[in-house]
Amino acid sequence: MKKEKRYILTLDLGTTSVRAVLLDEKGTWVNMKQKEFQQFFPQKGWVEHDPEEILQALETVVNALFVDTAIEATQIAQVGITNQRETTVLWNKSTGDALYNAIVWQDKRTAAICEELKRADLEEHVKNTTGLVIDAYFSGSKIKWILDEVAGARALAEKDEVCFGTIDTWLMWKWSAGKIHATDYSNASRTMLFDIQKLTWDETLLSALKIPKSILPQVHPSINAFGEIHIGGQTFQVGGVAGDQQAALFGQCCFEAGSVKNTYGTGCFLLMNTGEVAQFSKFGMITTIAWGDGEKVVYALEGSVFIAGAAVQWLRDGLKLIDSAPDSEYYASKAGRDGVYVVPAFSGLGAPHWDMYARGAIFGLTRDTGKPELIRATLESMAYQSRDVLEAMKEDANLELKVLRVDGGAASNDLLMQFQADQMNIQVERPQNVESTALGAAYMAGISAGLWTMDELQQNRQIDRTFYPEMARENAENLYSGWKKALKRTLNWVEDE
Ligand code: ADP
Repeated sequence: MKKEKRYILTLDLGTTSVRAVLLDEKGTWVNMKQKEFQQFFPQKGWVEHDPEEILQALETVVNALFVDTAIEATQIAQVGITNQRETTVLWNKSTGDALYNAIVWQDKRTAAICEELKRADLEEHVKNTTGLVIDAYFSGSKIKWILDEVAGARALAEKDEVCFGTIDTWLMWKWSAGKIHATDYSNASRTMLFDIQKLTWDETLLSALKIPKSILPQVHPSINAFGEIHIGGQTFQVGGVAGDQQAALFGQCCFEAGSVKNTYGTGCFLLMNTGEVAQFSKFGMITTIAWGDGEKVVYALEGSVFIAGAAVQWLRDGLKLIDSAPDSEYYASKAGRDGVYVVPAFSGLGAPHWDMYARGAIFGLTRDTGKPELIRATLESMAYQSRDVLEAMKEDANLELKVLRVDGGAASNDLLMQFQADQMNIQVERPQNVESTALGAAYMAGISAGLWTMDELQQNRQIDRTFYPEMARENAENLYSGWKKALKRTLNWVEDE
């Protein structure tokens, strides 16, 4: 008997690990396999991955998933792909060999190239076309670096013998034997080369960075028939591709304009769906394409907090105040009084403050301040920083919101989530499955496969817990004023860096 195609396979290519996830036809999580891969730090500020190792690791987890579940490849309706964004690979079109390691989004080696772009007065242009700020974080300057610094790379590119791709593109090209050279709008919008309104590669930026257009992938809607890939002799159809944060927004079913998700991981990533209009920020938020579904393109505002869960790691590993991150909740619940503030500006401050000279500080210490107060203040700093970003976004988008959908490791902290609801004065909704990134890519692929619609996904969302604002407004606002005062005093601290 022929088995029906009832499953969605998601390939999640993260920054430190790859995962293969299986969902059934109802969108229920069946199983997941994960494998870490190596991080290379060849010089200060440089971060690289071996692109071949990423694919090998992925193949291993896909095989393990099939062995474990006894589901056959022929039962997979469609594949969804989600990936670490901006990370850049260039490869030889004939041999399929990478010209250099993947240069990871965190890599800062191209800061000087970005300074040149600023000197060429391209800041406004970059913002108005790509929605981004000029930064080494995005792919554009990384592509230029490989073309300029790797022997023979530029000559090869000029002969039309080179392909560029983010990790999604690399995967599809390799596993389609060079048939698919494509990406989706959400990934393209992180290259600093893509006009997010015209939906074309921007000639001005390509020429400023001396990047030949021939190396760039085709750009498609995120929900799209990308084509066939082959894994271990089996053939699969790719039906959805999106960058990790945009996939998480989709996985949280933030389909309406004004809906917001916040991921509490090492840092925080807040994304707000702004509908079919690209809103350009006055407060240093990034404007990005959330996804395209073939009919329309949906935009988002994005703001990030550099140090969130990382501050809890600092309590654990640096100060040794707690044994594990979840312990923070117990100690914080024992705190006796308010008024202590930890500003974890360990490496400067991101949106909306943008001060790379800020440094961390603790304020409001008195003789009776102890471990619980310090731990609670550190947890609260995640909520305050997220509120700072959200307040700016609300003004940029001119939207009022009712619900914040949360995920990421620290979203399991009830005390933090309650405080977040109190601070933002909105409902904080934690889904049962907080693996939003993998879910998002799977949801897109499932729409392509005709397994479900966006309305059905929204209706079937399972909530673990909703946190409602409880604190008196005056109290919450007084606490927030204290935070703003503390934060102000950390600004511009380092003078000679
Ligand atoms: P990432 O994907 O960035 O590695 P995760 O989503 O896995 O991050 O979340 C891990 C982060 O969340 C760590 O920085 C950790 O300190 C923090 N964290 C995990 N659990 C808790 C908790 N219960 N309370 C507070 N912080 C937590």
